[in-house]
Amino acid sequence: MTITNINPDKNILEIDGARLWDTLEASGEIGKLRDTGLRRLPLSDADRQMRDLFCTWARNAGCTVTIDQVGNIFARRPGTDDSLPAIATGSHLDSQMCGGKYDGVLGVMSGLEVVRTLNDRGLETKRPIEVVVWTNEEGARYTPPMQGSLAFIGDLTLDEVLASQDADGLTFGDELRRIGYDGDRPLGESKFDQYYELHIEQGPALEAMGIDIGIVVDSFKSHGLKIEVTGRTAHVGPTPMDERQNALVGAAHLVVAVDGIGWQHHPQGGKATTSQISCFPNLPGIISERANLTVDFRHPDPAIADQMLGKVKAAMAAAADKANVEMKIVDSWSFGENPFAEKCVQHLSDTADAMDVSYMEIRSQAGHDAYAIGKIAPMGMIFTPCTGGISHNVEESIELEKTLPGVNLLLNAMVTAANR
Ligand SMILES: [Zn+2]
Repeated sequence: MTITNINPDKNILEIDGARLWDTLEASGEIGKLRDTGLRRLPLSDADRQMRDLFCTWARNAGCTVTIDQVGNIFARRPGTDDSLPAIATGSHLDSQMCGGKYDGVLGVMSGLEVVRTLNDRGLETKRPIEVVVWTNEEGARYTPPMQGSLAFIGDLTLDEVLASQDADGLTFGDELRRIGYDGDRPLGESKFDQYYELHIEQGPALEAMGIDIGIVVDSFKSHGLKIEVTGRTAHVGPTPMDERQNALVGAAHLVVAVDGIGWQHHPQGGKATTSQISCFPNLPGIISERANLTVDFRHPDPAIADQMLGKVKAAMAAAADKANVEMKIVDSWSFGENPFAEKCVQHLSDTADAMDVSYMEIRSQAGHDAYAIGKIAPMGMIFTPCTGGISHNVEESIELEKTLPGVNLLLNAMVTAANR
């Protein structure tokens, strides 16, 4: 193992890239899908296995590991003044249904690598360092996404989270207990002086520009809706067209309308998507009595994202009318409104300047746990390139050489913040 200073004159630290890669590879074996991908749904057996491995690694690195009531994991390396709030980093270890190996995982393993690098060099920091694994960031099994971090900051109640159900009716609370991660630490107990999250970009900008570090300066405001359509089952043969209440048809009208709203806002980068649809009884010969949709829309201008919400609601009314069905929003969430702290953005930029590495300012279009933490502590994010901008796909991939600059920025930014 070689640990070198990138710039000895300025005492710039460098992580062990090979070791970081080993942790990513080990993670990629747990819940592996189609050779290159990952299916590691939250609170599944694979999630438990990965959590166990992370906790072992963190304890072996001298961290104290605690678990809170929704299964968020906190690995803490003490500071010389341990009464001070921590400089924290973190991300998630759960994946999408057909996800990649680096989304979320890279951020967690980079945090672990920060701790290991400090250990290698025998360095202490004034403030503690904390690495956090947030439960259920992706929302692939339980909604809303970012459930762990939202519960941590009090935007979701413990009861709400524990009662949420997956598609098979299994509750979050039961599954959390089953995998042994129903911790006893009260929500929100860790206090963060600053929080930094490193994440793959999940878009093509860094690769296209040939720059390996993105310092995130802004986000897209995003809205998510779960919509239920209620009609009436009937025989597809004898039931006249004008007497039908076909929930699936109501849903179909809405799907097309939502896509149209996305196209209206496309010139400014707006997007609208129906990502999920199911109907009941979903059988040949029967008109559907129920359909459920998940709709997502995003815009760089928060005010316009809110206007899009109004357009979707109007589209729901029109679609319900057209199909003679009822339509209502049964769950909703939003995120991404100015979550970044100027002082963290500045600290990341200053650190990158001191390291003599190039970076670009970038805007995040996806949701991240960091957005939630940005509501309770100064927060900044670092993006690293992913090949072709592909994510939420088994083809997701990264190159170590293009990733190291961002991880080294995380390391040096955290250490200087922790020692001030
Ligand atoms: Zn992620």
